[in-house]
Amino acid sequence: MEFGNRIIEYKEDILHDLSELIAIRSVSCEDKTETERALDYILGRAKEMGFAVKKTGRVAGHAEYGSGEEIAAILAHVDVVPAGDGWGTEPFILTEKDGRLYGRGVVDDKGPAIIALYCLKALKDSGIMPKRKIRVIFGAAEEIGMNDMETYFSEEEAPTMAFTPDSDYGICVCEKGIMQLEISSAMHDGTILTEFQSGGAVNAVPAKAYALVDCTESEDNRLRRFADAKPGEYDFIYTMDGLIIFAKGRAAHASVPKQGLNSAAHLIRILADNFGESVLGSLCGFIDNAIGTETDGASMGIACSDNESGALTLNLGRVDIGENISRALIDIRYPVSADSDMIFDKIKKRAEAEGLRVKLMNHEPPLSVDSDCPIISILSDAYESIMGVKPELYSTGGGTYARTLSNRGVAFGPAFPGDETRIHDADEGINTENFWKHAQICLQAVKIMSE
Ligand SMILES: [Zn+2]
Repeated sequence: MEFGNRIIEYKEDILHDLSELIAIRSVSCEDKTETERALDYILGRAKEMGFAVKKTGRVAGHAEYGSGEEIAAILAHVDVVPAGDGWGTEPFILTEKDGRLYGRGVVDDKGPAIIALYCLKALKDSGIMPKRKIRVIFGAAEEIGMNDMETYFSEEEAPTMAFTPDSDYGICVCEKGIMQLEISSAMHDGTILTEFQSGGAVNAVPAKAYALVDCTESEDNRLRRFADAKPGEYDFIYTMDGLIIFAKGRAAHASVPKQGLNSAAHLIRILADNFGESVLGSLCGFIDNAIGTETDGASMGIACSDNESGALTLNLGRVDIGENISRALIDIRYPVSADSDMIFDKIKKRAEAEGLRVKLMNHEPPLSVDSDCPIISILSDAYESIMGVKPELYSTGGGTYARTLSNRGVAFGPAFPGDETRIHDADEGINTENFWKHAQICLQAVKIMSE
């Protein structure tokens, strides 16, 4: 029997603790008190198990077992994104139904966090003395920009090897760079477009957009016929203030914009085709001719790709136009070999030529871990001994804590290909068997890291 199988002995306890953790509504974009409560809960459990526990600020902490010079770590987060609508179960109650475990955070990332803690316990209960310090590092602000790890590593030494079970299997050795920009003008200078609004978060393709247009009834009729033939769904209401247009597309994560249908970009396209860009204002004009409905940055002159990490993606995440506001937020995921300064400069030049300002809101440099890095062979062996086959090495446009590990750590699990986990969506869940498979792989990896 592989050592990793021993995690199954803790099945009941893991589910018990996980249900208590999921019941804490630690939505980091809404409530700092609850995220800290989730952190305190898991650190409290670690203390009860007899581990050395340390809290860093109000957003991070760790449980530690073993001694030695080196630190090997698992990083997991206890904050979650909002539940949203459309669940078939109660989002904050861990529910097992039809062979699946459901609940907000069961996959991302409370389930893996509890499992990681129990891996440490299984090591201790078996009397194994690790050759290095094994840490489970917990964060409570992963979903809002990962400042939690900035705080943590400002006080704590960086691990020599680490993984974060916060993505897919196999091993993610490459994460694209992420740049989020705000493009704005001092005031809205459109003549017929009075309002425009779309989207919430910059890292999502907006599913809904809205525009208020000052036009005549005959223009209105022409627009309706025109929109009918275009991608997306459009509703029109003629009011005293003008024509209101609601556009419906399809949401997707900004790292895979092609999977969505950008309601904002398509609506602007339709308006520009009908009325011309000049009457929509400089911001919409820029959006239409420099971005359009593309997701690869071609018109902006920043399209690029490499074998290691794939192609650059661009997402128009949010547009706000009104009396006192005129801004758009875009999210760019660039390949590891691309030059981020050059990308930024190109966008800046192009926007400034239209009289617009560009502000860099957030920049996370890419991650690229060498395939001969020790953590890769450890995780590969752990996976193979439980699953019988070697894991694939892959690349993602998503972002995980691995970025905070100076190329000495990677994302690894917990989701298996083909198991639709619906993270950040309604009905987040995981196949129960897969959940325990992940637990076994995780313990196996911790065991090898301790040797
Ligand atoms: Zn996560």
